[in-house]
Amino acid sequence: MADIVLSGLVKEFPGGVRALDKLDLTIADGEFFALLGPSGCGKTTLLRTIAGLEPPTDGTVHIGARDVTRLAPGARDVAMVFQDYALFPHMTVSENISYPLKVRRRPRSERSSRAAEVGAQLSLSTLLERRPAALSGGQQQRVALARAVAVRPAAFLFDEPLSNLDARLRLEARTFLKRLQRELAVTTVFVTHDQAEALALADRIAVMDAGRIRQVGTPREVFGRPANTFVANFIGSTPMNLIDGSVHDGGLSVAGALLPWKGPLEDGEKVVVGVRPEYLTLSTTDPGGPALRGTVSVAENLGTSALMSVAVGDELIGAVVPEEAEPAADTPVWLTPQPGRMLVYRASDGELVT
Ligand code: ATP
Repeated sequence: MADIVLSGLVKEFPGGVRALDKLDLTIADGEFFALLGPSGCGKTTLLRTIAGLEPPTDGTVHIGARDVTRLAPGARDVAMVFQDYALFPHMTVSENISYPLKVRRRPRSERSSRAAEVGAQLSLSTLLERRPAALSGGQQQRVALARAVAVRPAAFLFDEPLSNLDARLRLEARTFLKRLQRELAVTTVFVTHDQAEALALADRIAVMDAGRIRQVGTPREVFGRPANTFVANFIGSTPMNLIDGSVHDGGLSVAGALLPWKGPLEDGEKVVVGVRPEYLTLSTTDPGGPALRGTVSVAENLGTSALMSVAVGDELIGAVVPEEAEPAADTPVWLTPQPGRMLVYRASDGELVT
């Protein structure tokens, strides 16, 4: 049972790279927490700093009530699962799972009963005497997880735990991981660059950029109300439309249309209007009300729906339509943001206004 509190964390690597830049974060006890962000933003460095594998240049790490900043990894009561699983090839599954207990000098009988118990929990019972080379990728991943579970740590730290699995196994492993974490209720921090994975698994997500956290929230919050244009741009399988506009006559002047809007900005102030392609209604006849007017440029098939790129003035705006409603190229269309789905960011700093 432990929360993880990071205060003022700085990590500078030789050569002047600031991988963590005065980072503050609290991860609640029992939470399934994702670190998400583009390549090089500092996710792995943050995880390794929590694990004790990377001493911070400044700041502190608390796990539960303890300040662990200066403690060695083995003294922190955390279990880390690496991307490549790091299994011992010459040991059986059972020996791999119970290895951390051997290091802790637990008796053999306890080791093998714990390996059997955790093996059953992770659907490995029939594989306990095999060696890693004789296992599939998904099975190896479960052995790595079992080894972490076996020591009953205060926290799990996972670095891209699913990235070595193929697409189908990954979906299976995702469900499995979520169920396991619920059952064990152990504080878990995992790094991923896959936003679908973070949105599907996490209780909360931190979106990072250049060593800083740009937003912390539930999947619903970071998807539905990105706090700034960086997060808006990063989250979503089809990117959010971010359209330049300005406050005008108590509404928003955007791509040749005047959309109704009430907010705390002065007339003439520049904004960026954010609206997801899923939240734009596309019609092929004039809907009468305020709408963006354009023509269909190209369509991308998304399976049961299609992403239409619509040329509105010199902007290309995406709108998702059901497959049967897909208009042909060059069709004139009108785009209307669904009520309450339009986000307005200040152009000066990219922060959310309403
Ligand atoms: P990815 O998704 O590509 O794994 P990441 O978000 O995990 O990226 P980190 O690996 O934490 O990013 O790296 C953050 C920054 O620190 C990067 O600019 C990286 O080049 C730099 N960095 C990481 N490790 C070292 C090191 N040992 N020495 C010098 N610079 C490093």
